[in-house]
Amino acid sequence: MIVMKFGGTSLGSAERIKKAATIIQSKLDDKPTIVLSAIGGVTDLLIEATNRAAEGKVDISAIKKKHLEIVNELGIDTSVFAELDEFETLIRSYSGEVNRMQMDEAVSFGERICTKIMAAYLIKEGVPAKAINAYDIGMATDGQHGNATLLDSSYTNLKNQLSSISELAIITGFIAKSPQGKITTFDRGGSDYTAAIIGAAIGAKEIQIWTDVTGVMSADPRIVSNAHTISEMSFDEAAELSYFGAKVLHPKTILPAVEHDIPVIVLNTLDPTVMGTRIVNKSEESKEIVKAISGKKGITVVNVSTSRMIAAPGFLADLFGVFAKHQISVDMLATSEVSVSLTVDNAEQLIPIMDELKALGDVTVAPNHAIIIVVGEGFKKQIGKAAPIFEVLAQNEIHVEMISQGASEINIGFVVEEDNAEKAVKVLHKHYFG
Ligand code: ASP
Repeated sequence: MIVMKFGGTSLGSAERIKKAATIIQSKLDDKPTIVLSAIGGVTDLLIEATNRAAEGKVDISAIKKKHLEIVNELGIDTSVFAELDEFETLIRSYSGEVNRMQMDEAVSFGERICTKIMAAYLIKEGVPAKAINAYDIGMATDGQHGNATLLDSSYTNLKNQLSSISELAIITGFIAKSPQGKITTFDRGGSDYTAAIIGAAIGAKEIQIWTDVTGVMSADPRIVSNAHTISEMSFDEAAELSYFGAKVLHPKTILPAVEHDIPVIVLNTLDPTVMGTRIVNKSEESKEIVKAISGKKGITVVNVSTSRMIAAPGFLADLFGVFAKHQISVDMLATSEVSVSLTVDNAEQLIPIMDELKALGDVTVAPNHAIIIVVGEGFKKQIGKAAPIFEVLAQNEIHVEMISQGASEINIGFVVEEDNAEKAVKVLHKHYFG
């Protein structure tokens, strides 16, 4: 048994849906369960239409047009238009500000419609398929709309319910239901997570994430023209990369797969025969020290310095207490006896906490920075591994402001000025891969 998940860009047109269907048909012997995102761009259109409807302007023509073109071109007969009417009636009932619960119900139509289209097309092609809303087979979360947390009971329920479905199951990604019976969603891009949960529930042999790039690259190919596809990497390496800018995988995807030791394979719908990246719990011993170099721009560095920290237990707890209270997530951290440097994603978030931070010490805030990370299991237990990184940066006159290495020892991260971010990625990629 395998799980195959297709993302929005792999489903963006009738032609792409046909391609995805051909890939599915070629894997029937592996007993696949299919998980789909909404058709590319549709989730954004649904959000837009919902917000406009709440302001009194109901217009779903763009969404209708997109689906109508696809359905016509595929030559299928579906209940898609009944769903679109249902969506229109729903958003007509919204007024004023749309809350997250209402938004979840509205965006759920993207996945609900897409699965119906794929199932209808596969049936037309002679494959007995069935569109299934994930919540109808046990995908359950808490009631935190927009970013819901999975309830563990889902695993057993999904397993039991899926075992009684004889057709090829085409399941909605991204959406679930709360114990109150309301539709919930995982974070944006959450269909990967759905795929991992289903894979874990049924004990799949592998989870295939079909997207529009060939696997995980050694660097962003827009920055480094000779970036290559990484053939195999560990979950830890992939998680580090996805947190720091590599857009291929939703970080949460990693968890259910890791916990159940199921490999995740990232493949390209447009180039299905090319081997993508295999992400496994523990990767084979690799010759390369480094697997990838990635960067994240738009970072703000916050420095808090105070002599109060010297031998003062609890200072860091107070400092992080401020961030925790305001739900601001901190990416990177470096501390000395008299100062703490940390990075946040968004300088605006700091405005409401500045007074609380100033009460703890002298605060400086430096926006327009970037975090660069160099990732590789090969770093572990390697003496002198960091030296070449900083030598290369120095040779290229790139000033490094903060350095950190996590306990996992598989990445070295540092902060540079945003203007130097691309140069840093380029020179390091050249150093490690030529
Ligand atoms: N359709 C959702 C989104 O656009 C979920 C997904 O694509 O994974 O975020």
